[in-house]
Amino acid sequence: MSDPRALEVLQRVFGYESFRGEQQAIVDQVIQGGDALVLMPTGGGKSLCYQVPALVREGTGVVVSPLIALMQDQVDALTELGVRAAYLNSTQDWQAAREVEQAFVAGELDLLYVAPERLLTDRCLALLERGRIALFAIDEAHCVSQWGHDFRPEYLGLSMLHERWPQVPRIALTATATEATRVEIAQRLALDDARHFVASFDRPNIRYRIVEKNDVRRQLLAFIRGEHEGEAGVVYCLSRSRVEETAAFLSAQGIAALPYHAGLPAPVRAANQSRFLREEGIVMVATIAFGMGIDKPDVRFVAHIDLPKSVEGYYQETGRAGRDGLPANAWLAYGLQDVVQQRRMIDDSPGDEAYRRRLGAQLDAMLGLCETVDCRRQRLLAYFGQRIGPCGNCDTCLEPPQAWDGTVAAQKVLSTVYRLWKERGQRYGAGYIIDILRGKRSERTAQYGHESLSVFGVGADLSETAWRGVLRQLLALGLLTVDTEGYGTLALTEDSRAVLKGERTLMLRRESEKSAARGRAASRGKTELPQLPPEAQALFEALRNWRGEVARNHGVPAYVIFHDATLREIALARPETLEDLGHINGVGARKLEAYGQDILERVAGQAA
Ligand code: ADP
Ligand code: ZN
Repeated sequence: MSDPRALEVLQRVFGYESFRGEQQAIVDQVIQGGDALVLMPTGGGKSLCYQVPALVREGTGVVVSPLIALMQDQVDALTELGVRAAYLNSTQDWQAAREVEQAFVAGELDLLYVAPERLLTDRCLALLERGRIALFAIDEAHCVSQWGHDFRPEYLGLSMLHERWPQVPRIALTATATEATRVEIAQRLALDDARHFVASFDRPNIRYRIVEKNDVRRQLLAFIRGEHEGEAGVVYCLSRSRVEETAAFLSAQGIAALPYHAGLPAPVRAANQSRFLREEGIVMVATIAFGMGIDKPDVRFVAHIDLPKSVEGYYQETGRAGRDGLPANAWLAYGLQDVVQQRRMIDDSPGDEAYRRRLGAQLDAMLGLCETVDCRRQRLLAYFGQRIGPCGNCDTCLEPPQAWDGTVAAQKVLSTVYRLWKERGQRYGAGYIIDILRGKRSERTAQYGHESLSVFGVGADLSETAWRGVLRQLLALGLLTVDTEGYGTLALTEDSRAVLKGERTLMLRRESEKSAARGRAASRGKTELPQLPPEAQALFEALRNWRGEVARNHGVPAYVIFHDATLREIALARPETLEDLGHINGVGARKLEAYGQDILERVAGQAA
């Protein structure tokens, strides 16, 4: 049975009409005192799953979160909604912490955010004993997983919450979706009796595109200029130096870009993060150190200019786009060099054979996604064990790639690698192999006598781009490998033989020369927000200006006041009374009271 109080809280406090997907069932489970393990994609709406029960149940909801830097914003956003929220962490002085503690004991808090290391101190546990706890929410629960890159040892201690407070319901939440992680979370947090809720991981408003990388900076610039001028986005890079270079490049091109990586001093990181959240249209260029817990709703794109290391990580990162449900882009540029580099990194990585094998399997899954001729989203969701039909909102659905019989081309590549090696026991990189295939003479080919090889010039029929595509796919398929000795040089594998002997045919994905040149960015079906009629557009902009002013006065990000989606709805509906305004999604009682009159005046003042 659904508890009617839940819907009442959702509508009154948060201003939303109805629960989404699994939210209702999860909220019911926790209100009734049961445990829950929730897997929902980024942007799926996890926070309401514990916030609503915390408001319905008696006492304070204690939220364990590793994201100290974001607690202030989370508490500010709740305060704007009229929820009594506070946090305890190391950024606070003694005095401020004491006030929070007193409020908790006096039963004056609906939600209390605590960092895990803080929670596990004797002092904090004793404090919690003195108040009434509605529930424990364990956010970012995958931090308990020792295999993941977000592992936090303190999370392992959280299983004691159950021993100490067996009556208090616990809800663990994560956007990490694989079966293995789910089992590990349940086990390590002792969530034996928890109901598991696995939401659909589909994020239909995000358009997935993977383009062939050639001149990635130029491609990135064209993508941002062509589709996201003035909009907020994240550009993920693999290394710190690449973050710095790319941010500097974009800035020099007049784009408001900021760097973020773990090597920057903490105050710089905090300042950049805060600007990203507070200002409009900032592009954050970052390593994967950036993003967990950032709930900015209007990130319009996530771009990857290096190949991510796993599908799971990639999906979490791209999920940071379009949380507001409006159209957003996930754009990845990927090329031959990415495969070479990552295979090398795996070979060089410390750790045992099993560890390297796991990294290799993750890379293979990622390469499979990049090279597929099927729907990207189908592939992505299949990785998380979920099935859908072709999505109609990814590059392969919109512009189905052609497959071609690449058997002969592959044989030419493999025999060139073989010949070159046989000649003088030397291995070479991709660029040189392509030169030989295309018969491109150079000092080196002359000096080594390679021009007289039988394979010299056998591949003049294909362009350099096409050959790079063939080599990349051979690497992705494990028919070529990166030599562990040399520097990015290529070698045959066990499986190469079957292709060389003509026992195996190979269907390859055709590189489109045209789209490679354009970076495919400007291709058909650009994602755009639905256009507002001119008078609604004018009102929307007036409301945005008003919102910016309010946000500055309150020292909070603009979206904490209202989301774009809410302002758009107001601009279209032109409510004339507070009651009408109250029906707009995202306008709860508290905001109606605080801002309703202001908004109505703006609507009335902007003649339709
Ligand atoms: P997650 O934590 O899962 O990444 P959030 O809790 O930040 O996602 O929610 C994503 C966005 O969806 C937020 O902007 C939130 O306000 C909105 N949202 C969540 N649930 C609902 C709902 N039932 N109706 C309307 N909007 C919702
Ligand atoms: Zn698709």
